[in-house]
Amino acid sequence: MIGDNKTEVMPMQSVSEPYPNLLLIDDDPDSRMLLAHLLKDECRVREAVDGEAGLALIQAQIDEGDGCNIDLVLMDLVMPGIGGIEALRQLKALPLCSDIPVIVLSSEQHEEALIEAFAAGAHDYITKPVRKVNLQARVGAAIRLKREMDLRLQREQELAEANGKLKFLAQHDSLTGCANRRYFEDRLSQEWLRMAREGKSLALVMVDIDDFKAYNDHFGHQEGDICLYFIAKVIQSITRRPADLAVRWGGEEFMLLLPDTDIRAACIVADQLLVAIRKRALPHPKARAAPIVTVSLGVASIVVGDNFVPDNLVAAADHALYQAKDGGRNRLYFNA
Ligand code: GH3
Ligand code: MG
Ligand code: MG
Repeated sequence: MIGDNKTEVMPMQSVSEPYPNLLLIDDDPDSRMLLAHLLKDECRVREAVDGEAGLALIQAQIDEGDGCNIDLVLMDLVMPGIGGIEALRQLKALPLCSDIPVIVLSSEQHEEALIEAFAAGAHDYITKPVRKVNLQARVGAAIRLKREMDLRLQREQELAEANGKLKFLAQHDSLTGCANRRYFEDRLSQEWLRMAREGKSLALVMVDIDDFKAYNDHFGHQEGDICLYFIAKVIQSITRRPADLAVRWGGEEFMLLLPDTDIRAACIVADQLLVAIRKRALPHPKARAAPIVTVSLGVASIVVGDNFVPDNLVAAADHALYQAKDGGRNRLYFNA
């Protein structure tokens, strides 16, 4: 009960069965007793003595955070307080409750109210006095419909989740979890247009692991993959803003896309990356610049405007990277 307003009737044989939950809202105790008795083998019946009490019961469930587990509501139309139609309206407006079927209980004198009830979202009606076969058949049909809707909703959610995973796989590199090159191309175009609209700079940091062929030759390809993974994690950890993107460009080359970032800020980020990878200190006895895994970085930033296209930015970062390699590796060069 809600305070003194509600009792529960549990069917004896239902303990382990996933019985449908039915909420019976009726101010007449005799009517409630009869309906609960007639439905006790079909449902787990909860009772509320008026619209406010019924809504309070549902609201309490929602507030607990697990959503509403009511599968069907039987709603008397003529009740003190807000009455059946207003209760029905308020129920349909509650979050997660719009799909709960509501069967209204009406006596023949209240046909106009019945029309109003359908307009307010009622699923079906049963006239009082209630006949057992009629009641059980309509309740059963409404519950089957609710179950089908729940199942469809669940499948839609599963499908949406599966689509989300597929989308992630299509956009990311499976070894490192970084964005892949295809996704990078899309984001580069998007950010290019956004920066053009806002008259801002777009920066790229091109990252190439130094002497990685020698790393593979020394430790083997599997260890090489593990090294790529670790370096990718460092690169990802450097991205701070939501629009920053860490990309596996291909092989042992990565890219950082940094929207709204001028050359000075991009060089600061690149320097942080250089230092973070040195700090990671993965041993590399065959490297020429230091006995650890290091990277060379090419940094470029462009104030996006009509004079340039995205390829200019990539080419500028690439050129700076070559300079970093020529300059002895384990360093950054930039191209403004
Ligand atoms: P540099 O300092 O000039 O960049 O020298 P480097 O050896 O890193 O460059 P190079 O282009 O000669 O060799 C790149 C190596 O990266 C060769 C290739 O075996 C390795 N590599 C590319 N992709 C992968 C991968 O997915 N896994 C592993 N383990 N190695 C890879
Ligand atoms: Mg390379
Ligand atoms: Mg390399």
